[in-house]
Amino acid sequence: MRARPIPYCAPSIGQEESDEVLDSIRNGWLTTGPKVEIFENSFAEFVGAKHAIAVNSCTTALTLALAALDIGPGDEVIVPTLTFCAAANVVEHRGATAILVDVGQDFQIDPIAIERAISSKTRAIIPVHFGGQACDLNAILELGKCHGIAVVQDAAHAVGAQYNGLRLGAHGLVTAFSFYPSKNMTTGEGGMLTTDDEAFAARLRQLSRFGISRDAGNKADGNRSWYYEVREPGYKANMMDLQAAIGIHQLRKLEGFIERRRAIANRYSAAFADLNEFLLPRDLPERPHVHYLYTVRIIAESSKITRDNLIRELDKAGVGTSVHFIPLHKHPFYRAKYGDSPTLFPVADALYDQIVSLPLYPAMSDQDVLDVIDAVCRIVFTSRNNSDPMPEHFGVNSK
Ligand SMILES: *Cc1c(COP(=O)(O)O)cnc(C)c1O
Repeated sequence: MRARPIPYCAPSIGQEESDEVLDSIRNGWLTTGPKVEIFENSFAEFVGAKHAIAVNSCTTALTLALAALDIGPGDEVIVPTLTFCAAANVVEHRGATAILVDVGQDFQIDPIAIERAISSKTRAIIPVHFGGQACDLNAILELGKCHGIAVVQDAAHAVGAQYNGLRLGAHGLVTAFSFYPSKNMTTGEGGMLTTDDEAFAARLRQLSRFGISRDAGNKADGNRSWYYEVREPGYKANMMDLQAAIGIHQLRKLEGFIERRRAIANRYSAAFADLNEFLLPRDLPERPHVHYLYTVRIIAESSKITRDNLIRELDKAGVGTSVHFIPLHKHPFYRAKYGDSPTLFPVADALYDQIVSLPLYPAMSDQDVLDVIDAVCRIVFTSRNNSDPMPEHFGVNSK
């Protein structure tokens, strides 16, 4: 047991972020001001999108995207079941119906399951780029085009990830990002929408500020700068300069963060390569990964060790873990509304019993990484019912 447990996740905030926040407090802007504009412009440039709209969370970003598509009662929106509840919740908030679909063995939403779920009421698909790697985006954008359905990408895990040589945020109509503290970059709470469509960007912006437009005042006879019109009952979704102050510096550090994440993920994969109890995450070279999650699968047949057991033993050893995710159809609200049977989501159901995410973040020291590897190997070795001590080389041949 370590003196200091290794948390499952932790942000990396430096002096630059602190100084910039202090600057916002001293200059008096606090809420949406010049730093939000700088952050939006640098984010748009980073992902390669024409427009970026900063908001107060990814959940709000998804809400605005659905609102800008005028999705409401009677409409259906397709969401993967193996994800965080935000994407399905926002569909419900709009009064529409979330249609949950299964994922593939790679945890990503399954385009075949999407196609089966499309009905005459389907208005949008919310694919999630799981764990920091792009999903099968071309197939999904193609389905959207064929059926006249919007694709609203949830890239909460995947800021900086690439697909077809472009960063996520530069594909399709609209992409939503999260800057929650567990994510690859943070603003405390915060989110971003990116789009290349100018009219859509303007609608998103209007919806993010109460549905207010100032165009009429600006166009009318000179002196009416005080004038605005409420064009629709919009949301209060704007990001504060206090948040953008953090984001500006997090974005500058992002590529370094991703490099560190990649190094740790590679270390884990080398160390665990010989453990036949585990299925390790696979990197697809054509979809550069940003390693938000390191999710292993524990294969029950080859071992006495179970996922729950591994989590318990790691906790005792001072190593934090998490499960991504409890499928949405297992939660009381969605189970009651949409049912649960072993035939509906066979892959997500099988994965759910097997998955555990290990600590992975830039603030981990090399010693932290070695301690996680050692704890995991020790627990797996002990589960094999050996009375001998764990050999030096066990599981760590490539240390
Ligand atoms: C974290 C997360 C969200 C929500 O992000 P917030 O910024 O906290 O609203 C949405 N989708 C997925 C897949 C997430 O992991």
